[in-house]
Amino acid sequence: MTCHDYKDMMMGYLDNELTDEQRGQFAEHLAGCPECTGELAQFRKLKAITDEVTLVEPEDRLWQDYWGGVYNRIERGFGWIVFSVAAILLAIYGGFKVIEEIVKDPTIGMLLKAGLLALILGLAVLFVSVLRERVYFWSKDRYRNVRR
Ligand SMILES: [Zn+2]
Repeated sequence: MTCHDYKDMMMGYLDNELTDEQRGQFAEHLAGCPECTGELAQFRKLKAITDEVTLVEPEDRLWQDYWGGVYNRIERGFGWIVFSVAAILLAIYGGFKVIEEIVKDPTIGMLLKAGLLALILGLAVLFVSVLRERVYFWSKDRYRNVRR
């Protein structure tokens, strides 16, 4: 057999489609033919690349979906935190304004003043608690995603 015949066998050799006898002949020829050995190496590289392409493609799409999901979650978490912070700032600002009004107003009785102040304090505590919860879930979510 000539080198040309063996070159036709290379793809079959790499795909494990040769008979034992053909494999033996091919290996024997390779041992004494640097040209075919070099060409086989090229074929093997080409095959590795094409195999990789067919393997990587669906996996690539998976990763895109995965990172899309992570991004959405982070974005939503971040949105919640910004919203909570803004709500707390407004509540504190509004709260101080209302407290000022209440304390200054001589027509409001002491008991009512105390009741209104307690109400405002309760709302502030609730807002802080919501923010803490948001930050907790957000950081936990982010942590889990990075580790996975
Ligand atoms: Zn050869």
